Amino acid sequence: MSSCSQCHQCFALLYDEDIMAGWAADDSNLNTRCTACGRHTVPLLSVQILRLNQTQAEILSVPYLNPLVLRKEFESILGREGDACLAEPEFVESHPIVYWNLVWFLERANIENHLPDLLCPDFQTRYQSTDALHEIHKVGKQT
Ligand SMILES: [Zn+2]
Repeated sequence: MSSCSQCHQCFALLYDEDIMAGWAADDSNLNTRCTACGRHTVPLLSVQILRLNQTQAEILSVPYLNPLVLRKEFESILGREGDACLAEPEFVESHPIVYWNLVWFLERANIENHLPDLLCPDFQTRYQSTDALHEIHKVGKQT
């Protein structure tokens, strides 16, 4: 993962320190201020995913969120969907921006967490034993 971004206006490269320094204390502002041209630009987080049995890495990028924006978005998702949505592999697809920003910030802070595991194809089986509701659902389906 990389937070190195290019200014959309003047194409200057912005590094993490530049991006963080340019964020506003505003929880609905996605912009940072470019250190080269002084204009507003939306920084990006670039992610390379290399899966097992794949030779080509998948590359995606999402807006790199100011922590204030991330917190607001994260709280609104939890408010709408409940904490359990964090244990669903679908979280990655349904909230890619929040997901990748969380992975980035937690990793930078050295906080061990299960979020990267959501990408594993066997996530459900690995975590199933601790998920009582899932077990009940499965038993109910079989009978
Ligand atoms: Zn610029």
